[in-house]
Amino acid sequence: MNAQIQSFTSQATYGLVVDETTGQATDCGCKDRIYRKQYKPSCKHMVAFNASFEAEVERAARFLALKSMVQGMEETARCYREMQYDPRFA
Ligand SMILES: [Zn+2]
Repeated sequence: MNAQIQSFTSQATYGLVVDETTGQATDCGCKDRIYRKQYKPSCKHMVAFNASFEAEVERAARFLALKSMVQGMEETARCYREMQYDPRFA
């Protein structure tokens, strides 16, 4: 998958290559990446993209945890409601 990232210092945009299974940037079209590919694992654009992806994953995980907590509360409330009208608990 290809994504565009805005330069931090100019109006330029660079093409990022993103691995669709991991969501991580694997290559970038900027000059830093082109000239330093051999001895630098990733340029600042790739680092920034990967960091924001990680943050997104964390937000999604927190959301799911919150959702299941709310579902648990709703389930408990439903049990109380049912008990209220059940003669066995009168
Ligand atoms: Zn770059």
